[in-house]
Amino acid sequence: MGRAFVYVIVGGGVAAGYAALEFTKRGISSGELCIISDEPVAPYERPALSKGYLLPEAPARLPSFHTCVGENEERQTPKWYKERGIELVLGTRVKSADLKRNTLLTSTGETISYKFLIIATGARALKLEEFGVKGSDAENVCYLRDLADANRVVDVMQSCTGGNAVVIGGGYIGMECAASLVINKINVTMVFPEAHCMARLFTPEIASFYEGYYESKGVKFVKGTVLSSFEFDSNGKVAAVILRDGNRLPADMVVVGIGIRPNTTLFEGQLALEKGGIKVNGRLQASNSNGSVYAVGDVATFPVKLFGETRRLEHVDSARKSARYAVAAIMDPENTGEFDYLPFFYSRVFALSWQFYGDIGGEVIHFGDFSGGKFGAYWVSNGHLVGSFLEGGTKEEYKAISKATRLKPAIDDLAMLETQGLGFALAV
Ligand code: FAD
Ligand code: NDP
Repeated sequence: MGRAFVYVIVGGGVAAGYAALEFTKRGISSGELCIISDEPVAPYERPALSKGYLLPEAPARLPSFHTCVGENEERQTPKWYKERGIELVLGTRVKSADLKRNTLLTSTGETISYKFLIIATGARALKLEEFGVKGSDAENVCYLRDLADANRVVDVMQSCTGGNAVVIGGGYIGMECAASLVINKINVTMVFPEAHCMARLFTPEIASFYEGYYESKGVKFVKGTVLSSFEFDSNGKVAAVILRDGNRLPADMVVVGIGIRPNTTLFEGQLALEKGGIKVNGRLQASNSNGSVYAVGDVATFPVKLFGETRRLEHVDSARKSARYAVAAIMDPENTGEFDYLPFFYSRVFALSWQFYGDIGGEVIHFGDFSGGKFGAYWVSNGHLVGSFLEGGTKEEYKAISKATRLKPAIDDLAMLETQGLGFALAV
């Protein structure tokens, strides 16, 4: 059994949804594009899962957040794909890929061949077992990567209102889930190994603001340690978390956010990997010789021209833009220059909202009101602005820090930059 398509996307997440949109905007014929996803639903805006989806009142539910509503574009329901003759193969895993023969083998035993392949397999959540801790399958231990995970978080959360949650990990999932748990009236303790939350991006000053804010909402922080084991009750549910420092935290539920690994297995041995992802060139083409394979989103390690380095980014804006770019590069190669991306990360928790553009590194200048107003930071490396962070900005202000960061202006006087603060970006 086999079918042939001009374009095949493996993976049906954010990048796949935005690639499909771009294909339709550039004009494809019915029957040319196929998307294969092991998720049972059409591509959706994954960020909703740790935000709107977990709200106690009027939570977001599909079909409301199918791509590409995140960029105020069309909402691509299964009907949308059908009407455009796009084959959406859901609930189906690609088991193997033969890049020499341009074919994929699915879990249903079908062989699907392509002229162009876009790899958009994203990433999977790291499991505690990979750090030597057993118990991930207990019914009150939650991860958060897909819809099934989010439904489990909701169910478990609803069963322990007023109880205790332990959140393992102080990264994005940890911070966003902790906020959602508090909103659901659950007592939260966050546990992570670093000295402060969001250690890979936040400076101690920035982290101190968010930790203080979370503490004001009742969140407790246990830093500089990790969990060593779980204590289970007679039903096999986790009853407490035992930390490496010997402390015991009673738990009605546990949420784990300890990072991800890109889903590269299908292509190992066939494509070059770098920084954990599939290495692509400035046109997002992978290393196979015939140029027919592209990789986008969380799974791709691509050159960031602005920094002269390759990066693998794990954020939605990069997934959306790299996907749209790859389609442009495939369909209109002559008029499509190399991918030139400015990294952009953001988060929204409680009444807070921040955006970051560029890169961290070099010296950091903080500015603004860290007592609860608008504040931010600039990173200056080799005499140039390379990164900007802003909490509580307006649309115009975020646009200004984005523009300033892309321009990489020379900074001769750090003290002056500190005095000017946000005004510097607004004047660039
Ligand atoms: P994914 O969206 O993960 O899609 C990959 C798809 O491939 C999935 O459908 C998967 O099931 C499928 N797949 C994998 N292997 C196979 C296979 N062998 N066969 C078939 N299908 C396969 N980023 C932000 O910038 N801001 C946010 O606020 C934000 N919030 C987030 C909240 C949560 C809960 C999560 C988990 C992530 C969040 N992110 C956020 C990150 C962002 O969602 C990702 O960067 C983005 O989803 C990456 O898109 P992708 O298409 O590369 O991967
Ligand atoms: P992150 O990489 O953001 O954070 C993982 C955190 O867990 C780090 O603090 C890490 O510390 C810590 N950690 C690692 N190992 C352990 C351990 N054994 N015990 C306790 N803590 C540990 O990953 P997340 O899981 O939070 O997020 C998953 C993905 O989802 C990421 O790709 C993220 O970008 C994405 N996401 C993005 C959002 C956004 O952009 N707003 C929102 C939600 C998710 P260390 O640094 O020392 O390894």
